[in-house]
Amino acid sequence: CTFKDLGVGDWLIDALKAVEISKPTEIQRACISEILKGRDVIGGAKTGSGKTAAFALPILHNLSLDPFGVFALILTPTRELAIQIADQFTVFGKSINLKTTIIVGGLDMMDQALSLSKRPHIVVATPGRLADHVKSCSDAVNFSRIKYLVLDEADQLLTPTFAPDLEVIMDAIPPSKSTLLFTATMSPSVTQYYNMKKSTGNPPFV
Ligand code: AMP
Repeated sequence: CTFKDLGVGDWLIDALKAVEISKPTEIQRACISEILKGRDVIGGAKTGSGKTAAFALPILHNLSLDPFGVFALILTPTRELAIQIADQFTVFGKSINLKTTIIVGGLDMMDQALSLSKRPHIVVATPGRLADHVKSCSDAVNFSRIKYLVLDEADQLLTPTFAPDLEVIMDAIPPSKSTLLFTATMSPSVTQYYNMKKSTGNPPFV
């Protein structure tokens, strides 16, 4: 099957061609149409499987239909991963003037607050620093229109280390968004998340 069969718009297919991506990977074939429909997803995929494009493409497709406010928040455990993810969004979103912001530790808080106040379409963040921004109660942080929350490396994020920061962030974003988990392993906490969602009658696509 092709990216077109999965429902991805022609402008994105052109962006993929420009970086010589023509055929969807397994994780992309499995997830893209479910994410386009707004369904919650748990994707089992390692780095290198094309998992970033598996969530970036449907998010960008739907963003182009409704480009107001912060549209998607991507959380990942390390700054290196955050930079790699933001780079892929930038490449795929070139033709729509996509605004992507990276919020990670070790960089200036004021600069980050300013970039958040400019209402980027996509925020890629590590939990600790983003929680600091939310706790600062700055007007810069407005996540009220977020449609997608992505937990990349979810097995690492859903651990006690990140739990307090994740709680702060979850309280700042609307409950109605779609949640996309990408994980290399079905860790106990990912399984627990799945069971919790299932008990609400709305199990994620796995
Ligand atoms: P990731 O698994 O997201 O870390 O992606 C690893 C690399 O694979 C990135 O450099 C992508 O640009 C590339 N990639 C993503 N999707 C595809 C695809 N369908 N075909 C070939 N390469 C891809």
